[in-house]
Amino acid sequence: METAVNTHPSPQDAFVYAQLVNLVRTGEALTRPALEQATGLGRKLVAQRVQQAMTVGLMEDGDFAPSGGGRAPRLLRFRADAGHVFAGLIGAGEIRAAISTLDGTAVASLHRSWDVADGPEATMSQLQDMFERLAKKTKAEPWSIGIGVPGPVDFSTGQLVAPPIMPGWDGFSVRSWLRERYDAPVWVDNDVNLMALGEWHRGHPVDRRDLLYIKVSTGIGSGLVSGGDVYRGDTGAAGDIGHVQVSDDPTLICRCGQSGCLEAVSGGWGLVRQLTPLAGESPYLAKRLADQGRLTPVDIGTAAAKGDALASRAVLQGARTIGATVASLVNFINPGVVVIGGGMLRSGGEAFEVLAETVMRRATKLATEKITLRPASLDFQEGVVGASLLAIEQLFAPASLGLWIEQGTPVGQAASLHRVAGQH
Ligand SMILES: [Zn+2]
Repeated sequence: METAVNTHPSPQDAFVYAQLVNLVRTGEALTRPALEQATGLGRKLVAQRVQQAMTVGLMEDGDFAPSGGGRAPRLLRFRADAGHVFAGLIGAGEIRAAISTLDGTAVASLHRSWDVADGPEATMSQLQDMFERLAKKTKAEPWSIGIGVPGPVDFSTGQLVAPPIMPGWDGFSVRSWLRERYDAPVWVDNDVNLMALGEWHRGHPVDRRDLLYIKVSTGIGSGLVSGGDVYRGDTGAAGDIGHVQVSDDPTLICRCGQSGCLEAVSGGWGLVRQLTPLAGESPYLAKRLADQGRLTPVDIGTAAAKGDALASRAVLQGARTIGATVASLVNFINPGVVVIGGGMLRSGGEAFEVLAETVMRRATKLATEKITLRPASLDFQEGVVGASLLAIEQLFAPASLGLWIEQGTPVGQAASLHRVAGQH
């Protein structure tokens, strides 16, 4: 007996249907015959499901595929413009917001300087204001929302957990705040995890090997994408390398409360603390200190880029220390690609070279034989790109897609989408 196209599919049917849409979306199978081959499903069922996806607006016919002799099959196209996702990246000193189509292409974006220490309410209101402006411009409503934050976050609940540089944010739920204002599922992750995801999908060159992203900025953190997925660990704490101990000096107190941590020694704020009493040795830093009353990591990066001896020495020593820690990670994880990102890149190419050289010298031969070490390539957009991709991936996870594919839109399904995501 034939199944009519419009009957409500069983969960199994929905899963198969979701699989077809995802094969086309990711470009793994782009014709009806290719879909039959990839899934083992019959011609009739594939044709029905493709027709159904077209009816709800998720797919369309494209050009004819190059013919292998017989009749050329029609190429299928995923309609990335069927909906939009909202993405936000909250940094220590800035906020980025973007609205993207369903393939992660930004159609509008905004950037503002902002101090995250102003607390959750003011920060989230600022982000919402940015979203509203972008929404007005694009007439888009969110199908899903992805947010990155500069601290440890419980991925299952979207709550911050004891973030060292975000006073007032401990236990705050970014998800609940946004869910009260938007009828869309909300996904919250650590900023560095999203930077890693952004570089894995969109970095130059695209390289589908496991990718380790190291952010060297005011603080230091890392993110790992393995097999295309962010590795978050048991409780979401994976990658927090800023607090690995690299010095026995008990006076190098870290903002986490311990001493001798990597970021207290080599992070932007650690360098500020070490160089402030020595600023008299550097005309540039002495002037900045006199003008502003304090130094910032940007001042030190700028001084190093200008060739200032004191700042260059500190930045390069920092790069060596970070390189030694990254070498240990490379030995342990054996990534194919290591990407160095964050504000350190603004201090000139030499810091990257020194860090990369240290990794190559300290890590084992087999672990470095095929490794690619490169600077981040998305002009500081990788975090917000990653936040869009997180929102999209969660929406199109087979179990989630199965919930809304019948309607062709997830609007109104936010609560069920969160429930389903909690189960896988
Ligand atoms: Zn620490």
